[in-house]
Amino acid sequence: MSDVPFVGLKAQYTALREEIRAAIDRVCDAQAFVLGEEVASLESEIAAFTGAPYAIGVSSGTDALLAALMAEGVGPGDEVVTTAYSFFATAGVIARLGAKPVFVDIDPESFNLDPKAAVASVTERTRAIVPVHLFGRCADLDPILDIARERGIAVVEDAAQALGTRDAAGREAGTLGATGCISFFPTKNLGGFGDGGMVITCDEARAEKLRSLRVHGTVGVYDHAIVGGNFRLDAIQAAVLRVKLPHLRGWIAARRERAERYREQLQSVGSHVTLPRDVAGHAMSQFVIRTPARDALRAFLAKAGVQTQVYYPIPLHLQACFRDLGYGAGDYPMAEAAAADSLALPLYPELSDGDQDRVVAAIGDFFDRS
Ligand SMILES: *Cc1c(COP(=O)(O)O)cnc(C)c1O
Repeated sequence: MSDVPFVGLKAQYTALREEIRAAIDRVCDAQAFVLGEEVASLESEIAAFTGAPYAIGVSSGTDALLAALMAEGVGPGDEVVTTAYSFFATAGVIARLGAKPVFVDIDPESFNLDPKAAVASVTERTRAIVPVHLFGRCADLDPILDIARERGIAVVEDAAQALGTRDAAGREAGTLGATGCISFFPTKNLGGFGDGGMVITCDEARAEKLRSLRVHGTVGVYDHAIVGGNFRLDAIQAAVLRVKLPHLRGWIAARRERAERYREQLQSVGSHVTLPRDVAGHAMSQFVIRTPARDALRAFLAKAGVQTQVYYPIPLHLQACFRDLGYGAGDYPMAEAAAADSLALPLYPELSDGDQDRVVAAIGDFFDRS
């Protein structure tokens, strides 16, 4: 029997194969490969999907964050408050601009940055706050938006895992702060056939600046008012994403159903594992359980043909490249605990009952034996 894959991209491709191939052909026939009509159309469609009036297609989720922070003028001497528990890019972009990442611990239930700790970490030097909607769950932004408004600080949302996520009030993730940064990496909720990303914003001036930043800061063709980069999105990515976008709400609903099924079926091992709580608007980009036996369980599941992932084994404040910042083990106990005991199970819209049953049975076997 073949493994239960961690992300089953093949099923989605098979279902949309003809349409995707036609979309790629359209780009080949037009011979227009960078930005252009396909990207402009995807931008309008993402704007409509999120309700943000402006969307700027860029080369990756990382570049979306980088450009968004550049648009706020983040640079040397600035501090940027962010979570200690995320994908590396969240903090990497801050450091690349010469600014100082100021990490805060997470709320253990949501895995998202603790809003009180974030507010307490704001200083005179804070230029931006970068909350992450980790695993597709909206971070608690209200306290952060309040202090940001008071102090004139920009909130740049890392919504790389959260296109289609909503908060408890039904507001779309990525539209709450100054800018929201989306990733179209193949394994995200809406995945392209390579790298891609987008910045969304409700602010026209920021949108204009971002459009300029993504083409080396040009204002005309060869005149540069600011220094930007090559952050352009490819037309082929946009064409593929445009085929997939109309399915995204349905896929999120399917993810939520799969997650609910895990919750029901994993009741029997409930004394050994903590399951992710269902909250309104959770896009269930990842289904992350917690158990002190994480490493042994992961090895057991691999042998049983069930692929899993650890997001993330080393919290950001303990990464070797940030040693100069002076953080140490014990500084952020909640992030460190999550790094030690969290395990992401296979979860995607096309996950079959049979494959999901195999995951559940293998987890049951593990705890029966231990
Ligand atoms: C994927 C991801 C990114 C980076 O996106 P890329 O498109 O891979 O560059 C940033 N932040 C988070 C939280 C992510 O999950």
